[in-house]
Amino acid sequence: MTQKYRPKKRYKIKYKNLAILLAILLIIILLISKGCSAIFKNKDDKEKQKEDSPLVTGDLLPDSPPPENLNTDPTKQSYYLFTPIEMTQSQLGSGNLVLVNNNIRFLGSVTEDDLDVVREKKNRAYSVKDYTVLVQPVVMDALNDMFLSFYEATGKDTVMVNAGYRTLEYQQQLYDEELARIGADSSTLVAKAGYSEHHTGLAVDFTVYEGGKYDQSKLGTGDYAWIDENAHKFGFVNRYPKGKESITLIDNEPWHYRYVGVPHATAMKDYDLCLEQYIDYIKNYTIDSGFLSVTTDDGAQYMIYYTPMSEAESTSVYIPLKEGADTPDDSSDDVPYPYEISGNNIDGFIVTFRFKEGTGLPQVVDPAATTSPDENAEPEASESGEE
Ligand SMILES: [Zn+2]
Repeated sequence: MTQKYRPKKRYKIKYKNLAILLAILLIIILLISKGCSAIFKNKDDKEKQKEDSPLVTGDLLPDSPPPENLNTDPTKQSYYLFTPIEMTQSQLGSGNLVLVNNNIRFLGSVTEDDLDVVREKKNRAYSVKDYTVLVQPVVMDALNDMFLSFYEATGKDTVMVNAGYRTLEYQQQLYDEELARIGADSSTLVAKAGYSEHHTGLAVDFTVYEGGKYDQSKLGTGDYAWIDENAHKFGFVNRYPKGKESITLIDNEPWHYRYVGVPHATAMKDYDLCLEQYIDYIKNYTIDSGFLSVTTDDGAQYMIYYTPMSEAESTSVYIPLKEGADTPDDSSDDVPYPYEISGNNIDGFIVTFRFKEGTGLPQVVDPAATTSPDENAEPEASESGEE
């Protein structure tokens, strides 16, 4: 009852102050909760966007190493953290990310001298049609790694590489044969000469040779579903997946795989994009807007960005460079991150650099060391007509 003896005014002031204080508190609480929910909402939205619609604008750089160590302004060359490499129009058609389809002619030129003979370099975890199957060296390594893993996972060495690189002349022959077969003047299975991915040396067709016969229809089913589920870890994508026919303009072909590189195959799988969509998607990421960050199954982290081709004779494509270095030189440690530049075969270049090294995929055992699939048993296969 001591309050009774205090001046009235004081109570009044106190209540008034309390009311103001409460109001301020309420506003602060509201602001904080709104801020928090905005943060969480952003995060949720980001996750959701990633799932629903991958066509979002540039992600910012990740936090480590600190973003300030990376100069995303290519004009600030005093830091020398990015340096230009001049790419010419003729290089649009080279690299792992060239997009070739019924409407986009392959601009690059690949000759047999650039390629590996699969029969000569393959391990024993799979077979190959004959000595005419050629692929890019990077594809050769990826095939060996993938089928070793497939063998370890399933005990099967029954996949056969049925086709790789094709010359223009051979593609024309396949196309003519297909049109004669179906009695039409165009095909949704076989590409015109010049418009087939097989000209790149980056595409392969598989079949299954099991129980004395070929069965391409086994691909994508049973043990062979492993390939579709795991190909991205080795840089391959199923190039003509179900559901994308209206974009690829080619019927679903569970046997046709395309090498694009591990980070890109991973992103395409994560975002459910076919190559046409992915090449468009990458255009959201530039050296100015921020990079697409992709973490692969082996724990490595890659940065990916696009540089549109300029009107000039050459295009300056910026690559990361170590501070203080003058020129990029792969043989020295002037390049802090291993990088690749690929043309998209249309209108620009894509830079990929490995920002963080991976810890590696689980080791696989070379089946040649444990079993001996009979090398001589490799049958002669006839190549079925496909793009
Ligand atoms: Zn094919």
